[in-house]
Amino acid sequence: MGCIILVHLDADLSRTLRDGRLDLPGIELIELATPDLALQRLEGSGDFDALVLGASVVDPVRVAQLAHRVNRDVAIHILSPPDRIAGLSRAIQFAPFLGEDVTCRSLDDLYGLTQALHADAGRARRRTTHRATLDALSRRQARAAPPQAHVSQLLDRILEHAPIGVVTADLHGEILDANTQARRMLGALSGTPVGTRLVDLFPSQREQLVQYLDASRGGPAGAAPVVVTRSGADGSERAIEMMAAPVSSRTGDPGALVLMADVTARVRAERRRDDAERRLRFLADASRLLASSLDYDTTLVHVARLAAPFLADWCVVYLQDEDGQIRRVALETGSADSDDGRNRGSETSINPEARAGVPEVIRSGRPALHPDADTELLIADVDRPEVLRAIIEPLGVRSWMCVPMFANGQAIGAISFISTTPERRYGDDDLRVAEDLAQRAGFAIEHARLYQEVRDALRAREEFVSVAAHELRTPLTTIKAFGQLLERELRRIDALPDRVGGLTSSLQGQIDRLEALVEDLLDASRLGQQLELRREPLDLVALSRQVLERFEPDPSRTIEHAIVLDAPAPVIGAWDASRLDQAITNLVSNALKYSPAGGEVRLTVRRVDDQAELEVCDQGIGIPPDEQARLFQPFARGTAAMRGIPGTGLGLYVTAQIVDRHEGSIRVRSASGEGSCFTVTLPLAMSEH
Ligand code: ADP
Repeated sequence: MGCIILVHLDADLSRTLRDGRLDLPGIELIELATPDLALQRLEGSGDFDALVLGASVVDPVRVAQLAHRVNRDVAIHILSPPDRIAGLSRAIQFAPFLGEDVTCRSLDDLYGLTQALHADAGRARRRTTHRATLDALSRRQARAAPPQAHVSQLLDRILEHAPIGVVTADLHGEILDANTQARRMLGALSGTPVGTRLVDLFPSQREQLVQYLDASRGGPAGAAPVVVTRSGADGSERAIEMMAAPVSSRTGDPGALVLMADVTARVRAERRRDDAERRLRFLADASRLLASSLDYDTTLVHVARLAAPFLADWCVVYLQDEDGQIRRVALETGSADSDDGRNRGSETSINPEARAGVPEVIRSGRPALHPDADTELLIADVDRPEVLRAIIEPLGVRSWMCVPMFANGQAIGAISFISTTPERRYGDDDLRVAEDLAQRAGFAIEHARLYQEVRDALRAREEFVSVAAHELRTPLTTIKAFGQLLERELRRIDALPDRVGGLTSSLQGQIDRLEALVEDLLDASRLGQQLELRREPLDLVALSRQVLERFEPDPSRTIEHAIVLDAPAPVIGAWDASRLDQAITNLVSNALKYSPAGGEVRLTVRRVDDQAELEVCDQGIGIPPDEQARLFQPFARGTAAMRGIPGTGLGLYVTAQIVDRHEGSIRVRSASGEGSCFTVTLPLAMSEH
């Protein structure tokens, strides 16, 4: 009696069979729910004649291969809806390791199926009759050569376990068979890719793959292997290298054999290497840019332009001024359409006190890295967050990092990198590049500032020398003129002693002026060479009293001045006595000189917290506001002074230098015709550096 396994038949067919409407006398029918159960049965006994796979069996060709691996004699019938018969038949033709007895037939063709099953049962009977003969034959063959079935099984096992994906496809690229590795790589381990077009599994690289498969028709040397990518089961990206070669089916139809290797690790390593190379190139370009100019504001704009788009969609460079304000010196976006946002962004200013964002990075000197950032994070440090929110929100902030810039060991600014690209999520690698860039920018700024200082100093010196030469020439010219007059007078027979006396005293006056000028010049130049202070404990009140005493009995003064010292208590500090003497003398002599109508000259000395405050006030001609800023520059003489009051324009410059050396400050309070007050503040103790 024949025995037939039926798997996963659809309900109608099953009912027809059970009703006995199919004429299959003498044949035992075993109905099973899954292919796995059928395979177990086949493995358990060799007495089965046929296997019928219902139309809903998943990947029936694969099941047929496995069934033939267990029992090559069993006839297999794959039932199929009429529209899939052609595809399945092709798959059967190309599938390796299938025996001869595999057919695909329409679901409706019950008559055909019945006939076939009869034939199978008959064949089985004949097979039983000849089994002994066959066994003997196969035993003999086993001695001579491995049986065909054994070789097939071996190959089948190799294919199954090879660490390489193997796919056969028909002329249209439709997958006919795939081993386990291939299924895993194609992400179809549980389902089946059979019947799917290979190129459809890689929509983003479809064109590339189509071209490759076309090119490979000429043989494996026809095209270099192609690498395609696909998301793995865990969502990570897998890279698959494919190599295709033409094959033909057992009936001669052309198709393709595609070998696939998972090259994810290699591709990742290559990508890391490429990224590292690109970063190095970027930093080298940035260095070149930074070295190209000493105008660092412009240079920083170039650097920001390089960073967006390479490292960011928006790159903003900030510098902190000496007064603590933080200003944006460069704001670059990867695209020109953000110009409007860039302009409106500059309407907001940074709040230097903010405990977050850029001010916090500059204050702490530590970078900020927020792989997942949002708008609120970026507007936390501006004075008008709503303006910035309106600009930033539509961009869709993805990620943010900000690194401090240092010059001379001090954080002087920061570079902020904003990503609005979903794929660009900042990590440690990006932060390292950003820090490297900021370090190079910091060096460039330091160089540029030093260069600027040197240039300013040189310009100041040139100016000083030219003005000094000019100032020296004025009294010299007068001296020369008086000398000629004197010589002419002396040659006259009737030279008058009065006239000679007048000329010599004018000469003396000019020589005195020249001497004062040279003295001041010497002072000024000594100060320019980092004059060493000889600090010692000193009472500023006592020193002021000594200075004033020198002014008291001055018979040359025709105008009456009341000189007052207002100093309630001693003020002791560590200062250079002779230098402060010089500074106080300058201020008091100016107060007397520039109050030609007399009046009070008051010198106040007192202690305010840990500072000494010394103020010299007069009731003289005063100083117009527009002249006040320049007073402490060398040779700066006010218009009032030009009206005939002698001077060199160096006294206040020297005074300011002395005060500065003592780490103090000097300021003026005055108005035209209303007198002047010069206030000097000096720290009592030296600072540590
Ligand atoms: P000089 O007095 O030799 O001109 P200074 O450097 O001492 O040089 O002063 C610079 C200028 O500042 C003076 O020329 C004068 O115009 C102005 N100035 C200084 N002190 C006073 C003062 N007490 N009142 C009015 N103007 C003053």
